[in-house]
Amino acid sequence: MALKIVKSECTVCGACESECPNQAISFKKGTYVINPEKCTECEGQFDMPQCVANCQVDDCIVPA
Ligand code: SF4
Ligand code: SF4
Repeated sequence: MALKIVKSECTVCGACESECPNQAISFKKGTYVINPEKCTECEGQFDMPQCVANCQVDDCIVPA
């Protein structure tokens, strides 16, 4: 299971990148993307996905 960033919603603020415990988020081609092979949805690490917790835009980070 992994999450993805909805490009049309993302403001490219960068707040999520440093909060990911698995370094799954990176800046590519002008936007932030989640590597589904690294994203664990923060299971076993935090009570909720840390990218979602730190993103100020609703519905920007959703199930992949
Ligand atoms: S859900 Fe967790 S592991 Fe997945 S991208 Fe967000 S912060 Fe990283
Ligand atoms: S915190 Fe949200 S709006 Fe900011 S770069 Fe990440 S996904 Fe985009």
